[in-house]
Amino acid sequence: MKTGLITIAYIAASALFILSLGGLSKQETARRGNWYGIIGMLIALAATVAAMNPSGWPILGGVVLVGALIGATVAARVQMTSMPQLVAILHSFVGLAAVLVGFGTYEAQFATGGPREGATMLLVEIFIGVCIGAVTFTGSVIAFAKLQGTISGKPLMLPGRHVINLLMLIATIAMGVMFVMAPGTSGHPFLLAATVITFVLGAHFVMAIGGADMPVVVSMLNSYSGWAASAAGFMLSNDLLIITGALVGSSGAILSYIMCKGMNRSFISVMLGGFGTEGGTVASSDGQPAGEVRSVDAASTADMLKQAKKVIIVPGYGLAVAQAQHSLAEVVKILKDGGTEVKFAIHPVAGRLPGHMNVLLAEANIPYDIVFEMEEINDEFPGTDVSWVIGANDIVNPSALDDPNSPIAGMPVLHVWEARNTVVMKRSMASGYAGVDNPLFYKDNTLMLFGDAKKVVDEILTAMR
Ligand code: NDP
Repeated sequence: MKTGLITIAYIAASALFILSLGGLSKQETARRGNWYGIIGMLIALAATVAAMNPSGWPILGGVVLVGALIGATVAARVQMTSMPQLVAILHSFVGLAAVLVGFGTYEAQFATGGPREGATMLLVEIFIGVCIGAVTFTGSVIAFAKLQGTISGKPLMLPGRHVINLLMLIATIAMGVMFVMAPGTSGHPFLLAATVITFVLGAHFVMAIGGADMPVVVSMLNSYSGWAASAAGFMLSNDLLIITGALVGSSGAILSYIMCKGMNRSFISVMLGGFGTEGGTVASSDGQPAGEVRSVDAASTADMLKQAKKVIIVPGYGLAVAQAQHSLAEVVKILKDGGTEVKFAIHPVAGRLPGHMNVLLAEANIPYDIVFEMEEINDEFPGTDVSWVIGANDIVNPSALDDPNSPIAGMPVLHVWEARNTVVMKRSMASGYAGVDNPLFYKDNTLMLFGDAKKVVDEILTAMR
């Protein structure tokens, strides 16, 4: 009876997770999707607690309480711009958990002579789970450090790095074979050696990827963390964990694919690393503009926007840093009320998190029907009076199209320069995340509006009023 109820609860939770993913795929249904996910997780937790031996409840209660307190505090405090780092570090926990579950299962099942039936399968599951978990753990820690700026975002290009990776992979497989063949728990040294090798492999993998490829790394690690959880599900014979892990794993893989497509990069070339240059915002080569730029003030920009029939706004990371979305929403309202056609153009890797700009605009209640993806809107710039770039840089860099030697050559960008006038709002001439100078700033029809995005949008708002 109890087992039947738990199975039903697991099926319900799985269905809710699938509905949640479906909901999250569209802005209009994202909130509902979130709720499905929350309810699914509550059911899953309740069923898991009910399924376990009550003697374990006090310990479980204690760790859940500590974990929930830490999680709630961190989530409440985190700035939206630091979300990618938070996501990366949370992935690392999933990876580490899979490693620990692997060691724990091995000890529990085989130390006492354990069930030998199906032992090979279980040993393979343990080994794969530990290895995926270890790669996810160190890879995510390095991704966290890169996004946080603790270490350089520059790709680490060790000589012969592909050979090093291949050797580590071969050594891991060799350890796996010896581990599975070792009787009792005598496979410990092999499991331990494989863990150390895959720790290094994960770190080395992510160290070699940098600059503009970081979005793919974040979603790829998301996918790995799902597979790690799924592997833990196999070890613990928990169907729900297997399903949930597979959902996270496959949706992360699909997101990585979408990101690669958005940047016109093949998955393999991302894995091989080295795209973009220095990560983080750095000044252009000598800190000086490589040409003449024309600047404009907030009052003139307000005039220009008011006179425009059509305006396309391109938000980027700087909008998120400055938290200018609410003031911007008011400017948009004034423009729309005055009869100007206003649209938003969203690049797939704008900001520092997949969907970052959509979240930001939704937060300010910008209507969904004026927000467009890059491929939907890129042809509209020629008929536009003003393209208004707010805190974006790499995603509007024409050198991606014009300069085959550019570190971001081939990445699709928003063609803002095709509008009659382009206003670029940022604080300085510094480059964006990929560390590449931007020729857009020196074009004849580009006007630079220097300053913090929130401050300047507020000035434009005041001028308009
Ligand atoms: P960029 O980092 O290219 O440019 C952002 C610009 O915003 C900077 O040049 C900066 O210039 C400006 N800025 C910063 N703070 C402010 C502020 N307070 N007010 C006004 N401007 C400000 O961002 P994009 O959104 O154009 O492109 C995203 C980049 O991040 C891509 O290279 C992408 O690959 C990468 N990335 C994306 C991830 C994702 O999942 N979306 C994850 C990780 C990386 P200044 O200093 O002069 O103000």
